[in-house]
Amino acid sequence: MLTRRITFRLYPSLAQKKKLFEARRLHAYLYNGAVANRKTQYQKFGHSVDYFEQQASLPPFKEVWLEYKALNAGSLQATLKRVDLSFNRFFQGLGGYPKFRSIKNYSGWTYPDGRQGFKAHTSGKNGYLELTDLKVKIQMRGQARTWGKPTTCTIVYRSGKWYASITVKCIPERSTGTEAIGLDFGCKTAIADSNGNKISPPKFLANASEKINQVSKQLRRKRKPEKNGHIKLTGFPRQSCPRKCKASRRWKKVQKKISKLKKKVAQQRQNWVHHQAVEIVSSNSLIATEKLNLKNMTRKAKKRCDPAPSNGARERAPRQGSKRKRQKTGLNRSILDVGIGMLKSAIVYKAKEAGAIYLEAPTHSLKPTQRCAVCWKITKKDLSDRLHICSNQECNHREDRDVNSAQVCLAWARGQELSTSKTADESSPTVNPKVKHCGGFQQLAQVKRQKLMAQRSSHE
Ligand SMILES: [Zn+2]
Repeated sequence: MLTRRITFRLYPSLAQKKKLFEARRLHAYLYNGAVANRKTQYQKFGHSVDYFEQQASLPPFKEVWLEYKALNAGSLQATLKRVDLSFNRFFQGLGGYPKFRSIKNYSGWTYPDGRQGFKAHTSGKNGYLELTDLKVKIQMRGQARTWGKPTTCTIVYRSGKWYASITVKCIPERSTGTEAIGLDFGCKTAIADSNGNKISPPKFLANASEKINQVSKQLRRKRKPEKNGHIKLTGFPRQSCPRKCKASRRWKKVQKKISKLKKKVAQQRQNWVHHQAVEIVSSNSLIATEKLNLKNMTRKAKKRCDPAPSNGARERAPRQGSKRKRQKTGLNRSILDVGIGMLKSAIVYKAKEAGAIYLEAPTHSLKPTQRCAVCWKITKKDLSDRLHICSNQECNHREDRDVNSAQVCLAWARGQELSTSKTADESSPTVNPKVKHCGGFQQLAQVKRQKLMAQRSSHE
């Protein structure tokens, strides 16, 4: 059984919308209240509040704030869990101190238990979503590839639209071929495979950027929001000028236009990624690529270029910091525009569904771009050398740089597959070791079950 997430668009009626907004407001208040509780308890009394304490204080809280009684108890706990997780992120140094969230930007809430709170009246395509605590039955549209038993449901409000994101337990079916393929991802050619096929990058952002820039220009003449600035009003003394100011309606209107354009780019990219991944997985049962560290690849440019040595490519590197920065930003953008990370993860999970083997070659020890796919010898290359010409006189293999790299990965994977044919596909879902404290809801349920078992055995 695997877990899959399906997002449906909700079409609430006016009365239903009112109820949804009301529930969202209450959840946002609870979130902020929980953050404030932790903050003041620590600052004033030196007491650090954990998730269990907040969960235990929910029933007395509901006695005072009666409007919360109507809401699903599990969903309130899930909101407290959101607070807990964001504090955990902060304690691990992964994020900043949790902020209070404005109701305007609060995304929604979750029903963590499939047995209560919500009911999905659907067989995977369209249908109705029933929220038992709000007493609404909302029409929804969307289609699941494979439908199963619903486990959780998250209600999301994003840019004026309501969505229900439902996770289901299911057994997805997917077919795969018998061939093997090596892949190389890049920004000059998005995907190069070991058969010599090359797919050029889709350049969704690059194509839309002109339009986005055009619309963004309109922002300049509109009043933007100012948080700490000093807005000068002519004819008024400086003291009486406002420190804060809200964005004008026109500014918001343009901003909406921009986010719509950007969203379209993201959707186009996602669509492209899934199409490519399906095509690759459907005909290949062995897929090999190299390991990529995208975070390092798309890092910001270093501030100063160190004095270049006299020979080689470094001399050509620009000395000026700003130009270098611009170039690196452009390169990052073109790497991210392809969506390599998304593409890879799509291939990984689709391969898993289909039962295909996916292998990643260690880039540093294998050096797929430098190595010759025929004689396995290393030929040094610059980023500008688009052709692989083997330095070995007897081999003299000529191939496109990316295709050669893909072939090296495939050859490596074939060797791996022979040596460890059974251990490779036995990857069990492991609990993230970084998550401390009480973890997510699944881990919580596990702890609860263990406690119950211990209690039962002690009674007997
Ligand atoms: Zn060679």
